[in-house]
Amino acid sequence: LNPNVTAADAAEKQKVWEADRDHFMHPWTDFSTFKETGSMVFTAADGVSIVDADGKRYLDGIGGLWCVNIGYGRKEIAEAVADQICAIPYFSTFGHHTTPPAAKLAAKLADLAPGDLNHVFYGCGGSVANDTAVRLIHFYFNQLGKPTKKQIISRIDGYHGSTYMAMSITGVKFDHVGFDIDQQLVHHISCPNPYRRDPKLSEEEFCRQKVDELEQKILEIGPDKVAAFFAEPILGAGGVIVPPKGYHQATLEVCRKYDVLYVSDEVVTAFGRLGHMFASQDEFGIVPDIITCAKGLTSGYLPLGATIFSDRIYEVISKPQADGAIFTHGFTYSGHPVSCAAALKNIEILEREGVCDHVKDVGTYFEQRIRELGELELVGDVRGRKFMMCLENVADKRTKALLDPRAKVGNRIADACQKRGLIVRPLAHMNILSPTLILTREHVDFIAETLRESILEVTETLREEGFL
Ligand code: PMP
Repeated sequence: LNPNVTAADAAEKQKVWEADRDHFMHPWTDFSTFKETGSMVFTAADGVSIVDADGKRYLDGIGGLWCVNIGYGRKEIAEAVADQICAIPYFSTFGHHTTPPAAKLAAKLADLAPGDLNHVFYGCGGSVANDTAVRLIHFYFNQLGKPTKKQIISRIDGYHGSTYMAMSITGVKFDHVGFDIDQQLVHHISCPNPYRRDPKLSEEEFCRQKVDELEQKILEIGPDKVAAFFAEPILGAGGVIVPPKGYHQATLEVCRKYDVLYVSDEVVTAFGRLGHMFASQDEFGIVPDIITCAKGLTSGYLPLGATIFSDRIYEVISKPQADGAIFTHGFTYSGHPVSCAAALKNIEILEREGVCDHVKDVGTYFEQRIRELGELELVGDVRGRKFMMCLENVADKRTKALLDPRAKVGNRIADACQKRGLIVRPLAHMNILSPTLILTREHVDFIAETLRESILEVTETLREEGFL
């Protein structure tokens, strides 16, 4: 406990804790346990760390939620935001109105994005960026005179958001339990997870199988009905799954063959996480038709998302339409000037500080140190790239059998890390790491060693309790 925490601080913390428990319905939360345990309250953050209401400091191993790329406490962002609020905090961008940050950011994104992706539609986050992509694609094919082309294909374990459409495109099975999804429009194909592949297949054969599956699905639905394929470069919330080599290029080729638009969901991977501003081209060699992004766009300092799309789409949707239609889509906060000012300053910092080069260097070291944990008995697979990594914990490394879910191994490891001053994310039986991108090698060593100690401790208790 921090000796500077006074009785008044403790009373305030209690008030916040109770207000939160009783009234704040948290996203993605199991309320059967939440009602008893409530929340940890965080009150401060700087650099790579966050601080709780008792003054205890933690290294943030999850970058807020894969988003605080430039780290916490950047006064420059606060100043850019304050200046923009004083200049003009908000004005509608519907029709022919704009503000300097919204215009400049669109030009900057067009410059950074690959190929002819020169047009930007703004929303407030990743889900909305994906919903916008769907509306854009539907409008595009309608105006092109191909109104039957509406169906969307995505992958099991892909994550694309929480709005109704984005949730339907999401393929994480658990996220659909208790809900209905839009089965009229969305079709899922299997996840290209090399760890869970049939051991008889080489990685190349496995890749071919997954690409063929996409082609088969297009043929089964009918190429005249399929509008788009949605894919994250690395499946994030589905367990940091890196598809086999060549997968993205080959799936893009299939899409081209059938005039299916390729949407690369870079909500996590853009703005430095893999050492590039955008990973589609620089890491995976593809120029998609649409890139959706959010999170690292402002490093989480303010909400903002963007759907960046090609000249080819823009030409079709921007011409006078026979039916008089215009793209009737947009949000009060599309192009919010304060969020755009934060994004511009964030991108300036990423560029000025060479964060992508830093990620190529220290992120590679991070990957190597986390991979070393693969020698532990509990760790079946270590996967990911740079500052996007996942540990898949198993009961038996040879058979890859999972532990009894009641063991709650992901939570146990996260708790053991937290005790030692490190936040990692539990995801079922896995643990995910997506720290800020400004870690030093010393921070990386701390994370690797803390995880090792925590996993060893958890292995012992699991054995004692008969789970191993
Ligand atoms: N796409 C991906 C790949 C994501 O990881 C997320 C969020 N984790 C989203 C979309 C949805 O973004 P948001 O939560 O900002 O709506």
